[in-house]
Amino acid sequence: MLHFRLSMPRLRSSKTPNSATGSKPLPPPDFPLATMPLRMLLRSLFIATISSKRYLLIPALHLLAFFAKPGRSFLFNVDRNPVLHALLKKTLYNQFCAGESVQETKACVRQLKELGFQGVILTYAKEMVFDHKARAELQESVDLERAKYGKVAPECSASIEEWRLGTLKTVDLIDEGDMLAIKMSGAGPSVTSAFANNAPPPPQLLSALSEIATKCADRRIRLIVDAESQHIQPGIAHTTLSLMRQFNHGADAVIYNTYQAYLKSTPAVLAHHIDAAEKEGFTLGLKLVRGAYMHSDDRALIHARKQDTDDAYNALAQGALCRRIGEFGAPDADARRFPAVNLLLASHNKDSVLAAHRLHAQRVEAGLPTVPVCYAQLHGMADAVSFSLLREEGAEGEKPGVFKCSTWGSVGECVGYLLRRAVENRDAVLRTGEEVRAVRREVGRRLGF
Ligand SMILES: Cc1cc2nc3c(=O)[nH]c(=O)nc-3n(C[C@H](O)[C@H](O)[C@H](O)COP(=O)(O)OP(=O)(O)OC[C@H]3O[C@@H](n4cnc5c(N)ncnc54)[C@H](O)[C@@H]3O)c2cc1C
Repeated sequence: MLHFRLSMPRLRSSKTPNSATGSKPLPPPDFPLATMPLRMLLRSLFIATISSKRYLLIPALHLLAFFAKPGRSFLFNVDRNPVLHALLKKTLYNQFCAGESVQETKACVRQLKELGFQGVILTYAKEMVFDHKARAELQESVDLERAKYGKVAPECSASIEEWRLGTLKTVDLIDEGDMLAIKMSGAGPSVTSAFANNAPPPPQLLSALSEIATKCADRRIRLIVDAESQHIQPGIAHTTLSLMRQFNHGADAVIYNTYQAYLKSTPAVLAHHIDAAEKEGFTLGLKLVRGAYMHSDDRALIHARKQDTDDAYNALAQGALCRRIGEFGAPDADARRFPAVNLLLASHNKDSVLAAHRLHAQRVEAGLPTVPVCYAQLHGMADAVSFSLLREEGAEGEKPGVFKCSTWGSVGECVGYLLRRAVENRDAVLRTGEEVRAVRREVGRRLGF
């Protein structure tokens, strides 16, 4: 049976001291944020304080929702009013987003790596916002091009073209070892309606995906396809499985599909994909999340209790690390072979990620089979979890590969994304409470209390 080490491309050797570990002894584990720069720490304190107090968070949410509406006058337009722009940029935007320009984004990515993160997972904010005016303009230029050259396919959609261009531009902002995250719904209504009706996606989407995946493979960047709402997710998963078949021939997966542990159907979907990987000999890119669409998806499809989702998440993470899920990798003679899998655990749950990391380290230490694994948290969120992971040692001093998932785009383009982060903080009362305590403890330590 194959025995993988952390074969993911690493930007720095695990033995090289970095600013997260440094040569100085680390403060005790109660202070995971000890290596965070002061400016970042104070911004986190500000945001975490607002997020943990409902009487501050609710008005902030209303304000963001107001700014997120398109067509605001100069006074309330975050991209045109310089005072509003500066206020949002210095606070929420810099906490959760990478940058408005190529230079800013690259600088932010560099800073995150200097803090010890193995890399970033970058998304283009605009792909998630339906900017009807821009789309209408783009559709006009596509129509013009079609009339002029007759080159563009008749069913050419401006939304898919805009999404393709933005996504390709995002690949240019990251380096080897980083990851690009995409939401297929960002390609617009022709794609979402095809998925919603169980119809094949437009050929224009498939050709854009193939171009994006080829560019990622050439640059050794991993392409992560996000999981979305249940009415379109089966189509997304099916399309991503085809991409894995085409691109995941080496030991390192180029394409990752996202599996939502809160869905009762996920073990069956995953078993189907493991089956395909085993029979057809490709590497399965397995990004595991709990799931973010509880408020909009059919509740009957989702586990009844949070504990059930936690158990499902941990069982799948630990199953993959032990190379044993369902009938695949079981010890009995007629069990199916467990195929090559690359695991990405995207979670803010400290217990889940630390347990997974420790299991992986133990198995490597003991010479037991496992799979390559890395971890991801959102930029500006769950920093105590990210920095706790960065302080962990694995087998032979190997550090876990931890990624921050960030978004780039103008402040206006990112308002919708910021609103979603604020809503997530509202719903994660327990975690934000813990986050604010970790930040306060660290501020106290630096002030000598
Ligand atoms: C880097 C990154 C990428 C992500 N990408 C995606 C993606 O592509 N698609 C996607 O859907 N989500 C994605 N998410 C969000 C993710 O699915 C979770 O919503 C979020 O991370 C919170 O879950 P958690 O694992 O951090 O842990 P926790 O905060 O411990 O868990 C909260 C989660 O538990 C589940 N839950 C809560 N209450 C209940 C209940 N009563 N019954 C059943 N389940 C419950 C929900 O999934 C909820 O989001 C991503 C998260 C990260 C960090």
